[in-house]
Amino acid sequence: MPERTIYLDNAATTALDSRVLDTMLPYFTLEYGNASSIYTLGRHAMQAIDRSREEVAAILHCRPTEVAFVGCGSESDNLAIKGMAFASQKKGNHLITSAIEHHAVLHTCQYLDRFGFKTTYLPVDEYGCVDPEQVARAITDQTVLVSVMYANNEIGTIEPIAEIGRICRAKKIPFHIDAVQAAGALSLDVTELNVDLLSLSAHKFYGPKGMGILYVRQGMRILPQLQGGSQERGRRAGTENVAGIVGTAAALRLAYDDLPFVTPRVQALRDQLIKEILKIPGSQLSGHPTNRLPNNASFAFEGVEGESILLNLDLLGFAASTGSACTSGSVDPSHVLVALGLPPEWSHGSLRLTLGKNNTQEDVDAILAVLPGIIEKLRGLGL
Ligand code: PLP
Repeated sequence: MPERTIYLDNAATTALDSRVLDTMLPYFTLEYGNASSIYTLGRHAMQAIDRSREEVAAILHCRPTEVAFVGCGSESDNLAIKGMAFASQKKGNHLITSAIEHHAVLHTCQYLDRFGFKTTYLPVDEYGCVDPEQVARAITDQTVLVSVMYANNEIGTIEPIAEIGRICRAKKIPFHIDAVQAAGALSLDVTELNVDLLSLSAHKFYGPKGMGILYVRQGMRILPQLQGGSQERGRRAGTENVAGIVGTAAALRLAYDDLPFVTPRVQALRDQLIKEILKIPGSQLSGHPTNRLPNNASFAFEGVEGESILLNLDLLGFAASTGSACTSGSVDPSHVLVALGLPPEWSHGSLRLTLGKNNTQEDVDAILAVLPGIIEKLRGLGL
């Protein structure tokens, strides 16, 4: 077994920041009150949640009342889309999204089919960009929501959110963005972005797993998807995960405090990865060459299986991804690479390397030392 994992899969999840853990610990032990209880212990919990909501609101440039804490990024996407669709049933039954969304969005839209909703899945160009003009053309008098991701989880392409937001605003159509991968790297200012609903997941920015955020612009009505108590201003029933909420807010604040130091370093390492890996014969970059997340280096290799690359890397102690949440044994290439128009001999050979603040030059040197040999070996074996 290799001595330590060289972790190059920060888009899948990130390590909890020890400073975040420190903020959370008291709420597992001493401060264990239920935030709905009126005695001192309960009020402490509620005060911690209120402070956390303010911290998040400061990053999003919104009101604290517009921030809801939920159980994960997937729940946030589900609540935004189902919540808006079901609250707007009298207005219309049409949704617009892109072909390269995360399954938390795509499968939610598909689920809504059975309730009479219809979704337009916008195509993307070869880099994975959504064309705002196509959004404008897809809007009908039945459209109740547009949902487009801020940055793609597989290929890192950043979408023209502010422009799409302007179009939606002009036509008075609510606009949701899945900002799960953008958090900690791009501005989350909801006013500049012209968005009405925004989803985040704490474990992508060194916060705890099982925590998400949904921003809901004041005046937007969404139908709650969990029935019970009136927590989160009636938007999400259930006793609040106080430690999780405190950790989520601390992680978001720290991610933006650290951004000016982390991003240039991570981006330089990513650029080196891209430059060197593209020297491998039969390789190409997936996603936009410049308009991409600073930590994302995604590739396609002709005539190789992505899973075989991963297994070989794993034996040497590297954690990486094909980019897609592949089911083992599945031979289907990712829906994102298919949407880019990649032919099967390329789309099967995907590799996503996503850097984080804990990666070093040595990590990059180490993978660059072994990857060309792995690709060559697999091609020789016909794998
Ligand atoms: N949206 C995007 C773009 C993601 O990358 C992910 C997670 O990979 C999610 C949503 C779901 O987040 P969670 O794992 O918190 O449910």
